[in-house]
Amino acid sequence: MLNKEENELMSISMIELEKVLLEATMRLDIEMFKEFYIYTEDYKQSKRLFLLKDMAIAFNKFIEQGDTSLKPNLGICNRCNKGCYGHILVGNNSKNYMNLLFENDVDKIIGVAECADLKTANKIEGLNKRIYLHEYNEPGSPNNVPF
Ligand SMILES: [Zn+2]
Repeated sequence: MLNKEENELMSISMIELEKVLLEATMRLDIEMFKEFYIYTEDYKQSKRLFLLKDMAIAFNKFIEQGDTSLKPNLGICNRCNKGCYGHILVGNNSKNYMNLLFENDVDKIIGVAECADLKTANKIEGLNKRIYLHEYNEPGSPNNVPF
């Protein structure tokens, strides 16, 4: 049984972890992302180790188009994790975008996931091309598996 103080420490670290993973994504900094992703449940259980590889590829797609940072827009998932909060991250130069969710469970981050249908409160103007985190989510890709 955890005492109250330990519980509070864990919930603080969960919030910090989400913040720092989002920050790494905004900076397109894969080394920083890796450094903190290892604290997620996904990584600990080796369920989605491929996420780091796909994240590096996605970051590079933004960087190749001249982006140096991504701007987050808070949204709510309308489909895959209905009601869950996520971010539409928009490249500062290309205006290409990526939809990400941080899957929380009380006091820990389970994982980072691509969202099929993220809705923001206000429409984001001037969006360009969607960057898919996973090739299997990209319509028209040979490995596409519909969400
Ligand atoms: Zn979703």
